[in-house]
Amino acid sequence: MPELIDTHAHLDGPEYGAEKLAAVIENARNSGVKKIISVGCNESTSLKNIELSRANKNYIFATYGFHPHNAEEFDEPRHSRQLEELVKSSAVVAVGEIGLDYYRDLSPRDIQKKVFLRQLSMARELGFPTVIHIRDAFEDFKSFAGNIDFKGVIHCYSGDADFAEWAVERGLYISFTASITYPLKNIYRAAEKRKISFREALDDKSLHDGPPGQVFDIISRVPAERIMVETDCPYLAPHHMRGRLNEPANVSAVASAIADIKNIEYGSFCSLSTATAENFFGI
Ligand SMILES: [Zn+2]
Ligand SMILES: [Zn+2]
Repeated sequence: MPELIDTHAHLDGPEYGAEKLAAVIENARNSGVKKIISVGCNESTSLKNIELSRANKNYIFATYGFHPHNAEEFDEPRHSRQLEELVKSSAVVAVGEIGLDYYRDLSPRDIQKKVFLRQLSMARELGFPTVIHIRDAFEDFKSFAGNIDFKGVIHCYSGDADFAEWAVERGLYISFTASITYPLKNIYRAAEKRKISFREALDDKSLHDGPPGQVFDIISRVPAERIMVETDCPYLAPHHMRGRLNEPANVSAVASAIADIKNIEYGSFCSLSTATAENFFGI
């Protein structure tokens, strides 16, 4: 079974009680998920993920960071010192998730920017990769982070193909969730109806108008070696189980859609994206 890494999960959430979490991890292992990056959004969720990573050594890896929604919780110098300590004890593998979210605007934009920039420079000082969350803020991201040199992956990509190309040119990685499967629903439906594979249904170009076309455009313009896959669970379950609780085992649905769109054999794409994630996170 081809192996994959779920590069962005939130296993710390209340959605996964202890028993549920054990089952979710077991299911991930049985579904070819080789490793999971469990991402923090503030101090308490980062610490919870670190605990999980210590309890599941070499399987779950944690990040530390303040999500734009939680930007106001970021407290200097307490949190930069905490991160330094955690890095020394090799408890975390990246700074994240950090970024800008002007879609929900849960924190004032000036604070989002300030906290994002501070965390970017902390990551640079420590030589750490960053996990970046950008929603409806691509132009701002470009203007003020474009000149800084940092290692990052833009997770749950929701921008357009031009921005993706710009990000790749400046060395960033792009990570996709199962949200890419939602605009493709006509194609999945056609495949089911005609009893053919999704890959075969993709050849019917009449199904590409509108949103599916945008997904094709983005995925075909990002080189395969810059792509990572993630679930962002417990959110964003794949199209066929939308609304249900998502979990790392479902990362295969993301990889399979990308492999089909890029017309790469599934196993080859899995090996490639696994190697990309292992190099990026140093795991
Ligand atoms: Zn996010
Ligand atoms: Zn997330």
